[in-house]
Order: sequence, then structure tokens, then C-alpha cells
Amino acid sequence: MGNPKAFLTIGRKEAGYRPIHDRIHDFGEVEQTLNSNDRRTQASRCMDCGVPFCHWACPLGNKPPEWNDALYKGDWELAYKLLTATNDFPEFTGRICPALCEKACILNLTEHEPTTNREDECAIIEHAFQEDFVKVRIPSRNGKTAVVIGAGPAGLSTATQLNQKGYKVTVLEARENAGGLLRYGIPNFKLNKEIINRRLRLLEEEGIEFKYGVHVLESDKSDTNIQNDPTLGKDKKVSIQELAKKYDAVVLCTGTPTARDLKIPGRELNGVHFALELLSQQNRVLAGMEFKKGELVNAKDKNVLVIGGGDTGSDCIGTAHRQGCKSVTQIEIMPKPPVGPEDPKNPWPNWPRTLKTTSSHEEGCTRRWNINSLEFLGKDGKLTGVKVQEIDWKPNPEGGRPLMIEKGKPEIIKADIVFLAMGFLRPEHPEFPENVFIAGDAANGASLVVRALASGRKIAAEVDKYLSK
Ligand SMILES: Cc1cc2nc3c(=O)[nH]c(=O)nc-3n(C[C@H](O)[C@H](O)[C@H](O)COP(=O)(O)OP(=O)(O)OC[C@H]3O[C@@H](n4cnc5c(N)ncnc54)[C@H](O)[C@@H]3O)c2cc1C
Ligand code: SF4
Repeated sequence: MGNPKAFLTIGRKEAGYRPIHDRIHDFGEVEQTLNSNDRRTQASRCMDCGVPFCHWACPLGNKPPEWNDALYKGDWELAYKLLTATNDFPEFTGRICPALCEKACILNLTEHEPTTNREDECAIIEHAFQEDFVKVRIPSRNGKTAVVIGAGPAGLSTATQLNQKGYKVTVLEARENAGGLLRYGIPNFKLNKEIINRRLRLLEEEGIEFKYGVHVLESDKSDTNIQNDPTLGKDKKVSIQELAKKYDAVVLCTGTPTARDLKIPGRELNGVHFALELLSQQNRVLAGMEFKKGELVNAKDKNVLVIGGGDTGSDCIGTAHRQGCKSVTQIEIMPKPPVGPEDPKNPWPNWPRTLKTTSSHEEGCTRRWNINSLEFLGKDGKLTGVKVQEIDWKPNPEGGRPLMIEKGKPEIIKADIVFLAMGFLRPEHPEFPENVFIAGDAANGASLVVRALASGRKIAAEVDKYLSK
């Protein structure tokens, strides 16, 4: 803690987003960066608390006070070493982590002005790449093998950890490239895909082998498909049982492939899509992939309705804007969360359930809460609108889930295209041989990149323990 009074005199300063008129026309990252001086000044605000809640709040156990201090003192290399002692990919979390550590920062709990850990993290790793601190680390081999199924954040962190421990690691991925939802879900305006490619080049040089278009089946009998993606490795199929015989350990990191559906009348109409149909296709188009006109999911000149008020819905809004939509409405079945830095009914250490306004919301969107969807309406097979009903939630006298009460009459929201962004089903897995492990969203249900990374590290340690017996 180089400057013990900084937190008293210096306020939180975020880099902020590019202006709307500038960013809305492209898919470049919306977030800006501070210059090095301002970044170090921000790092100086960290109080180096005796009991740092941020260590505990970060699922990776990252140590912001330690690297913020090094950053403030201008020792970027030390900051990089401290950061990567717990986090394999700070370039991902530094861009898209909701910063659980900042919610736990004492400066948030007292002043609502936490340290800028996430942005500091991103600055440290980007500086490290620029200055060549990031080196290829070739480990010595221990003669054992591991196969990781799925190359999302959980798979990449498992593979990295096992590789560094000396295992010969192969990653089998159904899609044509690695990254999981980092590449085929999260829009480029939040995470430029070159950031993933840069890391993959390093991992390959470090000896991890990636095989694409390989569809791993959970059992010899079943043929679980990955939702909405007919392009997936249909030709190369292999079962987990076969892999468990061939490799010393198998780690399943296949995420949550099934999106929650809305099975109301009219679901079959042309124009009703899962959010990931839009998001994964848009990212693929930006990567140079071509689609036939009939296959394109595009919001140009359309009235867009997003069903689901969370982050996936927000990513659909930003994408629809960039495609040139006419209007966007987002509806959510739950009530509007309280506005403000905190909800007294839900104090820390609970996650602050307050209204979140993302860069995509700022770009323009009608947001409504307490809206239930009743029916998709259409003409000649094409969607024209959605019949919805305003509702209220009342406490259930018998306890449990609150009761939904209808308010007023149903109404119609005009829509040419709908995106369903209502979350993902928790995967269920059959019983596996004892050398099969599960990590990330595949184990815990849909969550966050930082949790997937943490889960990958934890499972890699378990695999190592198991194979070192
Ligand atoms: C639209 C969207 C936006 C999000 N935004 C954020 C955000 O801003 N911040 C954040 O922290 N989190 C965000 N998340 C959540 C985050 O992306 C996930 O929690 C995280 O990616 C989970 O990592 P994972 O590796 O467990 O699974 P995934 O990322 O889903 O990766 C699973 C991988 O396994 C592959 N696979 C699946 N089945 C098979 C099979 N049978 N054979 C071979 N390969 C297979 C898939 O192709 C995929 O590459 C977002 C999620 C979505 C959907
Ligand atoms: S990964 Fe997320 S929670 Fe952990 S230190 Fe970074 S921003 Fe904070």
C-alpha cells in the first residue's frame, strides 16, 4: 500500500464506453482504457485491508491488494506474476467479469466506490503481452495423458493446469474453434475474438493438442446434441467410455448446451429464435463464415422483442442495434429490481440484486418487467407479435414460490423477430467411469466465466491427486 491516503482523496474513475454514435455502427469492443498514469492512480486507492474480502469474493481467489500495490508502484511485471498466480486468463475476466471482488470491496460497502479491480486486471495483462512478460512455458512430461472435452473457459483452464503439471493434454471440441461461449455467445463488442486466438496460440505452443469437430457422446447409446447448432462435429463421434479407456483421465467441460424454451402457442412461427442462434451466428459472420440467406438470423429493419431480462438478453439488444433493427423491447417476467447501489433487503455478502443497465441498454431499448408471454402471433407462418399479460407477484401463504396474479387485460407487443433469452437447463449426466471428472457449467449449471475458470483449476488439481495416488 504505497499511498495510504489515496482512498480518501481520489475517487473511482472508470474508463467508460466509447460514445454511442461511434460504437453502435461496429462490433469493436465498447469499453475504453485509462492511460497508465490514471490506471496506477486508480490502483493506489486499494486500502490493503487487513481482512481483504475481495480475495474471498473472487472465485479464483485473485489477490487485488497485492497486484494493485505492484501496479501503483509501476512494477507491472510483478503485478502480472501475482495476477497469473491465481488466474490463467486475466484477459477474459478483465473484460467480462461482473467483478464479484468489487462488490465485496470495503470502499463499495462504505462509499459505493470500489477499486477498479477488473479494469486494473485487464490493464496488467495487456501490458504484460505488450512488454513480452507472457512467455511460452513448456513443462516436463510425466508420461500420463488427459483428455478435456469442450474448449470453453472451463476446458481451457483445466487443460492449461494439467498441461503445466506435465500431463499430455488433448482437447476435443465439437465446434470449429475453441472458446465456448467466449467465442460463440459473448458478442465481439464485449470480447474481441483475437484475444482468444492470442491465448490459443500460446496454449498450442505449450503442447496442448486441440481437435475440432469432434462430438463426444455421454454414453455409447445416447446422442445428445448441442442445441441449435447443426454444424457440429457430426462425423467424428466418440463416447466418453471409449475415451476413459484410452486416456488416464477425462474431464467433461461441455457447458450447458440446452437453452430454456418457451413452449406457448405459435412457437413454431418463423421469427422465434433462441438468443444463441443470433449471437453465435453473428460472431461467426464476423469471423468470416458465410451463411445462406434463408439461414441468416438478422434484425435489420425489424421490431425486436427480447424475452428475458438478463445478460444474454442484453447481448441480443446490442447485437440487434448493430444489425440495424427498427426497435427493441426487452420483457422480463420478474419484478423490476430496486434502483441504486444496494438493496437493503438483500445486503452484502449476497449478490446485489439491483437494476443493471448495460452498454447495450444505453444504446436504446424499452424495458418492461412483470410481463408474462401468452402466445406468439403470426400471419402466413411469420411472426407479427406476442400476446403478453401484465402480472404481479404475491407472497404464497403456504410458503414457497410466490403466486402470479394477472393484472388488467392481455396486450399485443408488435414484433417481427423474438429472441428467447431465458437461461439454460442444468445438464444431467449419466454415471461415468471413475477416471471421468466434470468441470464448469457442465457441473454447476449456467454461471460465469470466472467460476468456470475456477472450477477448471479445482478439477485439474483433483485429477492430479487421483493420478498421483
Ligand atoms: C450470451 C451469453 C453471454 C454471457 N456473458 C457473460 C459475461 O459477460 N461474463 C461472464 O462471466 N459470463 C458470461 N456468460 C456465461 C459464461 O459464458 C459461461 O458461464 C462460461 O462460458 C461457461 O464455461 P464452460 O467452459 O463451462 O462452458 P462453455 O463456454 O459453454 O463451453 C463448453 C464447450 O463444450 C463444447 N461441447 C459441448 N458439448 C460437446 C460435446 N458433446 N462434444 C465436444 N464438445 C462439446 C461446446 O462447443 C463449447 O465449446 C455468458 C453466457 C451467455 C450465453
Ligand atoms: S476475476 Fe472477477 S472477481 Fe476475480 S479479481 Fe478479477 S474482476 Fe474480481
